[in-house]
Amino acid sequence: MTSIPKDFKVAIVGGGMCGLLCAVGLARSGIQVDVFESAQKFEEIGAGVGLGPNAVRALDGLGVLEAVLRHADSPTPNQLPFRFLAGVGKHEHVYLASTGKSAPLFSVVTQQHSRLFRPAFLQALEPLIDPSVIHFRKRCVSISDSNSGTHLLHFEGGLVHEADLIIGADGIRSVIRSFVDPEKSSRVVYVNSISYRSLLPPQLLDHAGVKTDLTTHPLCWVGEDKHLITYPVQANKMINIVTCSTNSQVPVGSVTVPLPWSRPASQDEMLEVYSGWGDDATTLLKQIKNPSKWFLHYLHPPLKSYVRRKVVLVGDAAHAMLPHLAAGVGQGFEDVFVLCKLLGHPQTNAANLDVILEAYNNIRVPRANMIIQRSFDMGKIYQGYRDTEDSTPETQRRLMGMWEPVWHHDLAREVASVVKDIYGGQESSL
Ligand SMILES: Cc1cc2nc3c(=O)[nH]c(=O)nc-3n(C[C@H](O)[C@H](O)[C@H](O)COP(=O)(O)OP(=O)(O)OC[C@H]3O[C@@H](n4cnc5c(N)ncnc54)[C@H](O)[C@@H]3O)c2cc1C
Repeated sequence: MTSIPKDFKVAIVGGGMCGLLCAVGLARSGIQVDVFESAQKFEEIGAGVGLGPNAVRALDGLGVLEAVLRHADSPTPNQLPFRFLAGVGKHEHVYLASTGKSAPLFSVVTQQHSRLFRPAFLQALEPLIDPSVIHFRKRCVSISDSNSGTHLLHFEGGLVHEADLIIGADGIRSVIRSFVDPEKSSRVVYVNSISYRSLLPPQLLDHAGVKTDLTTHPLCWVGEDKHLITYPVQANKMINIVTCSTNSQVPVGSVTVPLPWSRPASQDEMLEVYSGWGDDATTLLKQIKNPSKWFLHYLHPPLKSYVRRKVVLVGDAAHAMLPHLAAGVGQGFEDVFVLCKLLGHPQTNAANLDVILEAYNNIRVPRANMIIQRSFDMGKIYQGYRDTEDSTPETQRRLMGMWEPVWHHDLAREVASVVKDIYGGQESSL
C-alpha cells in the first residue's frame, strides 16, 4: 500500500494484541513507528478470547481480518448464540440468545494447532510489520517531556527514546497511564473474584459423564456468587473453561493482591468453591487437574481522559475491564481502529495532532467507559441467579439486550463523521 510519509514519529509501549495491531495499522499509513516490549518475544498469556462482531469489524476495517482468519479455526468468524443454564440442580435452561442483529452472538477465533488465541493473533500480525521496529526486552519505567515539545521514554538499563507521540499499550498495570492520569484518580482494583481456567477435549468430558452439550453453543452456567463459562474452540477439538467466583461479603477495592495475579491453583480449592453445584458442572470441574487462577481486577473509577499532551492510551492501559462481556480486547481493537484512521488521514500532520487526539478521546472515552460498567454489571447478573422460581424470568429480563450497544455500534460511521467535522468534505466510508 502506498502512503505519504508523515512528519511525526510514534513510539508504542507494549507489544500485546493492541500494541502490535496499532503498529501494523500506523505503519501501513506511512507513520514511522517503534514498538517497545518488555518481554523477550511476543508471549502467550491467557486462553482463547471471544471476539464480538464489533471486534471483528475493527480488524476488518484495519485490513488484517483475513490474515488473522488464516491462523484461525475457520475462514469466517464463527457466530454462536450464548445459552444460559443453572449451575445448581439439574442445570435448568435459563435463556437462549436468539439469532439476528439484536441478539448476543459470540465469535471465537483460535488457532487450529495451538491451544491459545493470543499467539495465533500475534503470529498473524508479525509478518505484517518490519521486524526492525520491534524492540524486545525494553521495559519502560517512566516518561517525561523534552524541551522541544516531544516526549522521552526512559527504559530499564538507561535507554532513552524520543518521539512526537507516545501510545501506551502496556496493559492493565500500565506505566504510561501514570503520565496520562498523574493524580492517580483511577486505580486498578481487585473485585474479590477469582477465575479458574482450563482447556479440555470434549471427548474427555463426554467419557467422564458430562451430559450437557458443550459444543453447539457457548454456555454460561449461572449461580449465587459464581458462574462458569464453557465454549468450544479449535473447531470443537477443545472446550475452553473459565470459572468466576466472587466473595461478595468483602467491599470491592478493600483487598490488595500481591503479584502475580495469575497463578497455578489446586483442584481441591476450585472444587471447594463450586461445592453444591449440579452433577454436570461438578463432573466437568473434576476433569481439570491443573487449573490456573486469575485474580480479577479492573480500572475504577474509569479514566476521565485517555490523552494528555501527546501521550495516548489504548487497550487495557486505558480501560481494563472485567471479562464478563468478553469485550476487553474488542474495545482495544476499537481504540486502535479509531486512532489509526485519525492519525493515518492524509491531512493529519504534526501541527494538528492535538485536534486529532482530542477527537480520539471524545469518541473513545464515553464508549469504552460505558462498557467497563456494563461488564461489571454483567457479572452481577450471572452471579445474581438464585435457585428460585422467579429467578429464571428475572435473569432473562436482565440479560436481554446487554450486548447490543457493545456489538452493534457503527464506529466507522462515527469516525467518518468526526473526520468530516475536522477536515470538511464528504463523509466517506472508512
Ligand atoms: C480471565 C480473563 C478472560 C478474558 N476473556 C476475554 C474475552 O473473552 N474477550 C476479550 O475481548 N477480552 C478478554 N479478556 C481481556 C483481554 O485479555 C484484554 O483486554 C487484552 O489482552 C488487552 O490487550 P492489551 O494489548 O491492551 O494488553 P496486554 O495483552 O496486557 O499487553 C500489554 C503488553 O505490554 C507489555 N508491557 C507491559 N508493561 C510494559 C512496560 N513497562 N514496558 C514495555 N512493555 C510493557 C506486556 O509485556 C504486554 O506484552 C479477558 C481477560 C481475563 C483476565
